[in-house]
Amino acid sequence: MIAFNQPHLTGKEAHYMYEAVYAGKLSGNGKFTKRCQAWFEERYGFRKTLLTTSGTDALEMCAMLCDLQPGDEVIIPSYTFVSTALAFLREGAKVVFADSMKRNPNLDAEQLESLITPRTKVIVPVHYAGVACDMDAVMAVAKKHNLLVVEDAAQAIDSFYKGKPLGGIGHMAAFSFHETKNITAGGEGGLLVVNDERFVRRCEILWEKGTNRAEFFRGEVNKYGWVDMGSSFLPSEVNAAFLWAQLENLDEIQTKRRQLWEHYYERLAPLAKRGLFSLPDVPDYATNNAHMFYLVFPDYEKRTAFIKYLKENGVGAVFHYLSLHSSDFYCSRHDGRSLPECDRYADCLVRLPLFYDLTIEQVDYIVDTIEKLYAE
Ligand SMILES: *Cc1c(COP(=O)(O)O)cnc(C)c1O
Repeated sequence: MIAFNQPHLTGKEAHYMYEAVYAGKLSGNGKFTKRCQAWFEERYGFRKTLLTTSGTDALEMCAMLCDLQPGDEVIIPSYTFVSTALAFLREGAKVVFADSMKRNPNLDAEQLESLITPRTKVIVPVHYAGVACDMDAVMAVAKKHNLLVVEDAAQAIDSFYKGKPLGGIGHMAAFSFHETKNITAGGEGGLLVVNDERFVRRCEILWEKGTNRAEFFRGEVNKYGWVDMGSSFLPSEVNAAFLWAQLENLDEIQTKRRQLWEHYYERLAPLAKRGLFSLPDVPDYATNNAHMFYLVFPDYEKRTAFIKYLKENGVGAVFHYLSLHSSDFYCSRHDGRSLPECDRYADCLVRLPLFYDLTIEQVDYIVDTIEKLYAE
C-alpha cells in the first residue's frame, strides 16, 4: 500500500531533541524556539514570528489580535479546514462564507465586494495547496474598506505571490507544521506571523498567557504581571528542536517534493487533455510549493469510483474538505447563499500521495494504475 502521507525525518531530529532535553530548559521560548523564529524572520522578512503548538493556535491568536466585537463579520472561504472558521467564531464573530474560483479552490476575490457590509472587519484568504490567492485584489478590497487581512498560510511554506512570500502580505498570518504539511514540528506545530507593527507588542503577551514576561526577560520592564488576555500558545523546546532539523533541510525537502509533483503533472497531462479530470492550477502570479497534488473530476460519482479503484490497487488517494457552509454545525447560521464552486471541489477533488519519501517509481506505479483505468 502506498500511503497518502508519511511524515519525513531528516535524521537530525532526535539529535536536536536530545540537545534540548539535556540543555535543562524544556519549556517554550528557549534556544531552539528563538532559532526557528529568527530563521523565518531572516529568510522571508516577516516582521515578527512566534512558534505555536499548532496552526489552529496561530489562527486563534490572529483572531484575538483582530479585537472583534460581537456581530463583527469575517469573510472566510467555505472550502477550507474548520480551524480557519473556528478561530474567528470563538471570538464571537459572524463567519460569512465566500465561494472558490472556477480555476482553483482559492477564494474568489472578485466576489468579495458583494460580501462586505458595515460590520465586516477581516478577510481570511486561504492559500490552498500552497498556491497564492490573488493577493493584490484581496489587499485592494481590504484597503478600500479598512479591513484586516489574515492569511491562512497553513499549507503555504516557501511559496510566493509575485515574488512576495506568502504569510508576509496580509496584516498577519498562520502557518502549520502538522505532520501532513511540507515540514513538521514533530506531529503538531504552527507559526504566527505579524507583519503590521500595531500588533507586534500584543502578540507576545497573548502568547505568554496574558503576561509581559517576554519584555521582562529582555529587560524592557522591571516587573512582569497580568496585562491582557492570552493563553499558553507556545510549544515546548522539544518541538522547536524537531522543527529546527526540518528547517535546516527545507530546500532539499522542497526540491524533492517539486520533482515528484512535476512528474505527476507531466505524466497525467495526456489524460487531463482527454477531459477525464483537470490538473492543479498555478496562476502566473503564484509559485508552486508542491504541498499537494490534486485532480478535479467532472462529478462526484467519477471521483468516488476513482478513489475506490486506487484503494483496490494499493494507493491511498483521498478527497478533501466538505463545504463548511453546509456543515451540521454551521448550516443553520449560514445566510443561505449557494456556493457552487466550493461544493464542486468538495464533491470532485481528490488528492494523490505526495511526501518526501515517495519515489519516482511509486509515482510511475500510481500513474500506470490510473492509465489502466482509462485504457480503451
Ligand atoms: C492544516 C491546516 C490548518 C490547521 O493547522 P493545524 O496545525 O493542524 O492546527 C488550518 N488551515 C488550513 C488551510 C490547513 O491546511
